[in-house]
Amino acid sequence: MDNMSFVLFGGTGDLAKRKIYPALFNLYIDNKMPEAFSIIALGRKEQSHAEFQQVVAKSLQTFSRRAANDPAVLNSFLNSIRYSSLDAGHLEDFRKLRVLVESREQELSIPGNRMFYLSVGPEFFDVIALSIKESGLGTTNGWKRLIIEKPFGRDLKSARHLNEQLSRAFDENEIYRIDHYLGKSMVQNLEILESSNPILKALWSNHHIANVQITASETVGVEERAGYYDNAGAIRDMVQNHMLQLLMMISMRLPRKSDASEVRMKKRNVMESLRPLHIDNITSNVIRGQYTAGEIQGKPVAGYTDEPNVPKSSKNDTFIALRLWIDNYFWNEVPFYIRTGKRMAEKSTRIVIEFKEPLKGQTTTSDPNLLVIEINPNEGIFIQLNKKDPLNTEKLEPMRVNFFSNEKEVPEAYENLIFDAVRGDSTFFAHWDEVELSWEYVQPILDSFEQDIIPLSYYPAGSNGPEASDQLVEADGFKWWLDK
Ligand code: NAD
Repeated sequence: MDNMSFVLFGGTGDLAKRKIYPALFNLYIDNKMPEAFSIIALGRKEQSHAEFQQVVAKSLQTFSRRAANDPAVLNSFLNSIRYSSLDAGHLEDFRKLRVLVESREQELSIPGNRMFYLSVGPEFFDVIALSIKESGLGTTNGWKRLIIEKPFGRDLKSARHLNEQLSRAFDENEIYRIDHYLGKSMVQNLEILESSNPILKALWSNHHIANVQITASETVGVEERAGYYDNAGAIRDMVQNHMLQLLMMISMRLPRKSDASEVRMKKRNVMESLRPLHIDNITSNVIRGQYTAGEIQGKPVAGYTDEPNVPKSSKNDTFIALRLWIDNYFWNEVPFYIRTGKRMAEKSTRIVIEFKEPLKGQTTTSDPNLLVIEINPNEGIFIQLNKKDPLNTEKLEPMRVNFFSNEKEVPEAYENLIFDAVRGDSTFFAHWDEVELSWEYVQPILDSFEQDIIPLSYYPAGSNGPEASDQLVEADGFKWWLDK
């Protein structure tokens, strides 16, 4: 692994403290950082290196998966951190930063490899990228890479514009777009699960699979993010990025080898095979929902339009269900259902693959086989099979074969992703073609919400979403599995 500088814009922010420093620290403990590395944290306020190292120490003690209680290990990690104040709008701050980066590179014999991580609001993405170029920070004998995290635009047009701006300073193969769902260990497992298990590989197509259900439900409401969320909705916050990425990962054909360019091509094939939505099919395939008052874990909670800072007249989507069709040879006729929402009965991200029932019509008691992939908060897999009921030989009953990981031992998404970016492996990042094709798919939904063509269905907080979402699946003879 190459020695490098890790330059963190937004280094004093919430994401940096909760996720990025703990991820770097855990990689350090696991010997997954380069031999020499320099972390440069940036924020708006002035503070000394030592003061800021104590801020990081506190964040590690609070949020790190691995205990930060060995002073020698902790101090040697903290010693790698320097702090500098920077305002994204001031080019001279970037020149000052360049001096600091270069002096640390000399001290540590780092050959100019520079990772720039933008943990700042999206309004700063282009100005920071362009200032990196302008200030000479991006001119180096080593490699340079840019890590950014969603949102990548708020519609197809703005996403294209942002990408054009970024590509003035970085090549596509230097841009690592984080979708933290792709960093989750169980998502990184999907391809291996299929390719290394002949019993699954043999069944992985429309011959045996009846439907696929992808759910990402939250019990929390809009919390203090109303300003952002009321302008984004579940469609931009979850569907355009995380849900479509999960769809690509579960449905792509196996790449010949698991490298970034192969995986990227296979994911692209999925997106290009998606049946487009248009005015004639959109209302029958898209459900838009919003929560009303209800109960979460026995406690009453307010409806969406009664949340602080949400306009009373808001028609924002806090829930989306979608039926998608992948019109290719392997998935022809298999519906894929996506569902995501806030204030739902359970916090869970899972994929359920329902197999066709050979005994359908011959016995009324068999359940279909299910392969359930639990992604969050638990990571695991179970398979539902049928067996005889020992007390009633006429009857079949389902049984579950379970595997669940020990969460303390599973690296967090940000650990997996930062490790990959440092090694230059972009397999589990969102490439521009996927982002653009996702916006292309989603744009008719955004337009139809704007024009109020898709009705808003309401659901009480603490439920599994609006009735219309159940009806979407029932119309094809199925049901959502595992609803609480
Ligand atoms: P935050 O408000 O806590 O931190 C923002 C950071 O940006 C601070 O370090 C601040 O100093 C810096 N900053 C603000 N204005 C600046 C300027 N003019 N010039 C230079 N730096 C400036 O935000 P956050 O929660 O850390 O989120 C950062 C980004 O990551 C956001 O775009 C957010 O959408 C995204 N994100 C956050 C989370 C999360 O869990 N917090 C998750 C996913 C994505």
